Amino acid sequence: MLDQTLLKTSIFVHHTGPFVFNDLTNHLYKCDPEEQRLLARLSVAPASLTALAASDPDPQLAAHVRRLVSAGLLVPASKDETGEFVTHQVDIETCRQCNARCLYCPQSVAPKPRGVMTTELFAHVLDSLGETRPQWVALNHYGEPLLDPHFRDRVRMLRERGFPLHLFTNGTLLRDPLVEFLSDGGLFATVFNFPSIDPDEWCRLMRMTETAYRHARHAIERYLSAGGGRALVAISVNAQTPDREERAVRLSEHFSAFGPIEVFLEDSDSRAGAIENSLVRIDSKGAGQRFGGCARFVNHLHVSWEGKVFLCCQDYEQRVVLGDLRRESIAAIMSSEQARRLRAENAGLFHSLIRRSPRADA
Ligand code: SF4
Repeated sequence: MLDQTLLKTSIFVHHTGPFVFNDLTNHLYKCDPEEQRLLARLSVAPASLTALAASDPDPQLAAHVRRLVSAGLLVPASKDETGEFVTHQVDIETCRQCNARCLYCPQSVAPKPRGVMTTELFAHVLDSLGETRPQWVALNHYGEPLLDPHFRDRVRMLRERGFPLHLFTNGTLLRDPLVEFLSDGGLFATVFNFPSIDPDEWCRLMRMTETAYRHARHAIERYLSAGGGRALVAISVNAQTPDREERAVRLSEHFSAFGPIEVFLEDSDSRAGAIENSLVRIDSKGAGQRFGGCARFVNHLHVSWEGKVFLCCQDYEQRVVLGDLRRESIAAIMSSEQARRLRAENAGLFHSLIRRSPRADA
């Protein structure tokens, strides 16, 4: 049966070297060169195992194809994948504002006005996930979650449901009692936006005061000393400057004295044109790594402070609204005609869909 089935690489597959990720199942696979070659080949032209075997001398060909099929990396060519969505990650905009004005962030050129999600709506959004167990929930869409007056209540609600919190913060408002509170657990990871250990440089990049710098630095030190919420603690080093690797090394040297920490370079980008200057790049770092489109539209839910589901984190102004969780389910929103069309465009299927559509004048 499989021998004759026309197969294609799923639009939900992306790769980094030998590591191949299925965005729909959220699983990572290590593929050997033959399997990588098959995925690349079937991402541009579907073929059956029989047809592949006619020109492929690989004695393991059938085993490779079966493994890729069972992992959902290869699917029948006739399968319409555009309606698929599984909630693995959730971004909820609990608070719109930020107290920083980082030069690499759209908040520095078009600051968002005040807006806080009610705790009732927050509970409703979490309830709308039903039986889904997300890998993590973040409380961001360019806002600083610690400005939120209901932050602790939300963390408690996440803990009650067993949803791990992925905390992204600039750390300036992370006072000692809050460090203690977060140390009780329930975290997936904590990521601090802290671009430099040098106070002058930090203040210039984040456009904040030296007092804020001291608060943030102390908060990270204290947080690490207290065990980092018993989860990964990381620093994202933003701003595309020639010395950013040097900044990362100095940050690592300083903070690793307080506890385990991961310091990584963040590819600050233009956020689809929302911010443009020499500190952000305009190209997509994902280019060339994907067989299909972006994972965001497959497994990542983005909810505004008003309960609207919008496209993704690159949609700073939340212009592409897919639905409203106050009135619709996640499944209905993410499999709507609009979502399917956008997912098809994102995966590069738009033109083939047009060709398959009946002509309006036929
Ligand atoms: S990068 Fe983060 S901390 Fe800086 S302005 Fe944007 S949202 Fe605020």
